Amino acid sequence: MEIKKVVVIGSGTMGSGIAAHLCNANIPVTLLDLKTEISEQARDRILKSKPPLLLDKSKINNIKVGNISDDFIEVAEADWVVEAVVERIDIKHEIYEKIFKERKKDAIVSSNTSSIPIKVLSQNLTEEEKKDFCITHFFNPVRYMGLLEIVKNENNDLEKINFLKKFCETELGKGAIICNDTPGFLGNRVGVYAMQIAMTEAFKMNLTVEEADAVFGRPMGIPKTGIFGLYDLIGIDLMGDVLKSFIKELPITDKFHEVAKEIPLVKKLIETGYTGRKGKGGFYRINKTDGKKIMEALNLKTGDYAPSKKINIKTEKVDLKNLINRNDKYGKYAWSVISKIIKYASSLVPGVTKEFNDIDEAMRLGFNWAKGPFEMLEEIGVVDFFNKIDEYKNNNFLENLSQSKNEDFYGERQKYTKIETLGKAKKTAISVDGNNSAQIYRFKDYNIVEFTTKANALDYDSMDALKKATDKPLIIINESMQFSAGVNLNYTMEFADKGDFKSIEKFIRYFQETCKHLKYSDYPVISAPSGLTLGGGFEVMVQSNFVASHTNIVVGLVETIVGLIPAGGGCKEMLARWLDTEEGKQDPHYASLKVFDIIGYAKTATSPTEALPMKYLKTEDKKIMNRNSLLEVSKDILKANRDFKAPIETKFNLAGNLVKEKMVKILEVLYNDKIILDHGMTVGIELANVLSGGATSIDKTLTEEDLFKLELDAFMKLIKTKETQDRIKHTLATGKPLIN
Ligand code: NAD
Repeated sequence: MEIKKVVVIGSGTMGSGIAAHLCNANIPVTLLDLKTEISEQARDRILKSKPPLLLDKSKINNIKVGNISDDFIEVAEADWVVEAVVERIDIKHEIYEKIFKERKKDAIVSSNTSSIPIKVLSQNLTEEEKKDFCITHFFNPVRYMGLLEIVKNENNDLEKINFLKKFCETELGKGAIICNDTPGFLGNRVGVYAMQIAMTEAFKMNLTVEEADAVFGRPMGIPKTGIFGLYDLIGIDLMGDVLKSFIKELPITDKFHEVAKEIPLVKKLIETGYTGRKGKGGFYRINKTDGKKIMEALNLKTGDYAPSKKINIKTEKVDLKNLINRNDKYGKYAWSVISKIIKYASSLVPGVTKEFNDIDEAMRLGFNWAKGPFEMLEEIGVVDFFNKIDEYKNNNFLENLSQSKNEDFYGERQKYTKIETLGKAKKTAISVDGNNSAQIYRFKDYNIVEFTTKANALDYDSMDALKKATDKPLIIINESMQFSAGVNLNYTMEFADKGDFKSIEKFIRYFQETCKHLKYSDYPVISAPSGLTLGGGFEVMVQSNFVASHTNIVVGLVETIVGLIPAGGGCKEMLARWLDTEEGKQDPHYASLKVFDIIGYAKTATSPTEALPMKYLKTEDKKIMNRNSLLEVSKDILKANRDFKAPIETKFNLAGNLVKEKMVKILEVLYNDKIILDHGMTVGIELANVLSGGATSIDKTLTEEDLFKLELDAFMKLIKTKETQDRIKHTLATGKPLIN
């Protein structure tokens, strides 16, 4: 079997996302809707989507569009037909009738339904037709969400289902979990329950919207949108519909009913158009007063809005044990929510799934949780959990565990895939050591460093771990959402605020030294990035010997935004790459000017395809659709490089003042056009100085050390200025750039 062509029917949120992602996998796809204009608009939306659904926007024309009246013949050529029309059974049944009349013999037909049981979907199909019909439940946004739930029916051709699973894993990069035909499958059943319990407990325990989000967020290893923020993002009305469908489908004895009761305030929000970000606002809203935008939060008691308050519950890291044992309202709320999620998830074993492990992985892949409920239980500790929990009647899983008290109950991870994932490998490490910012997993033939800070921001400890782990081949890889968002600016500002610039200089030197060590140590170093790979994160990657990159990366040098310049070797490496081009070899100004343009504008790429022309990635770097495969690919690189020899040190011939003058001219134009302001000019000049090689000329050869020194001097000059510090503070507080 092969999938060479796909037709997607229904070009809404999901259909267009699925079509775009098939396009990412270079599979020709046709998108059909009621009218061609609707699918054309969908193609437009794909092109404008943020974050982008396409890896390569120039491929948009590989998505053909049409309508179900004139173009249904397309179905006859498809190897896979995906139905993603509205969640209405009558419409879906009608479409299946048409599809099965037209489809090629043996072609797979699947539905993207999130709530209709496969029994109901397939009730009008013949036994033969049922063989080829299943549910493929993708999550939104399709390119970025790792989870794909596949639901079989009792007649399925199993070989075909396994083929489809493998195809979706390798070609589409999804974590494909086979689920039973139960309401909400795994991800939504537990994920929506978790959202509801987090919300209802916040009401019950009198927490504010901001307080609940501060707990049910990063401290629990859950994305920072929290609960109320997530409600606003999904749409409060849509969540209402989801709940109705669960209420209809689940037996009355299911605990879900307890958390799905209508909340009067929520009902009122929906009725008055406060449906979340897409509506007039939701639990949060942006209010404009006196021309200023102010973020406001809803008071859950009065229903009035007031300026949103930042809540700091003073936890830097996920530490569930500490969190649930806190003696304040945050600790009580956390325990109440976590314990109920664990109770609910475990009540689904074995009825909904025999593999509790699949529930955890569904929560990681479908909701971006750092840990699923069972791993939370493992972290809390079995004995401690049972000392604290009230009751768990009729919950077989917990009753058994309370008997065995087996702290090692968890066993393997990621059983749903045959791939040797990082999650599986970590459990088999010979030893684990590390510090506050990174873990080192040691194996016989190689080491793994996993950064562990918020957004994997880098500090002295992160560098220390990297350095310590180069006694063997090293793979730098992690399971969190970002490879690394760059140097920890909070950490840097703490020193700056005290006027302790010596410590900053010491850190930057150590950063440089470590990166140089990565590049030239005796053993190969591989970076396997996914997500944000910015600033210092990029510098670690670019000074590794090999790169195995996930296709979902955001990569670039963004230091100028906060009034700095890359000082961990970023300028140096980008210069080396551009000097090594044909143009760079011929024109002595070419590389400096190119890199000035890229770093000056803090350009980023949102995929390897976009990264290549800027040389953030190289053609020989591996680009991988399935994040789960990053470790296997990295290990393959190690195997292929058993005779690794460290590279020869790079030398630089740069034009000095001659090219610097050109850059200053560019800055002057930008300054006169008010595109940059005073400090923009200062930062630009410092960058120009580094990229021109400083006081040099083309006949003089500079070493990497010379370039590091230029970077460090410029960085130190800038970090001492009030304007750069203002920029950093502003970005830390608002997430936005300050133009000064
Ligand atoms: P949507 O409302 O955004 O899009 C549905 C599309 O189907 C519309 O473009 C509509 O014109 C089209 N349509 C309606 N009747 C049709 C017909 N007879 N023939 C062809 N096209 C028709 O909906 P969506 O959010 O994309 O959801 C689609 C499916 O995916 C639903 O089954 C939904 O439950 C499921 N789902 C949605 C999400 C999500 O987050 N939105 C996630 C997972 C699954």
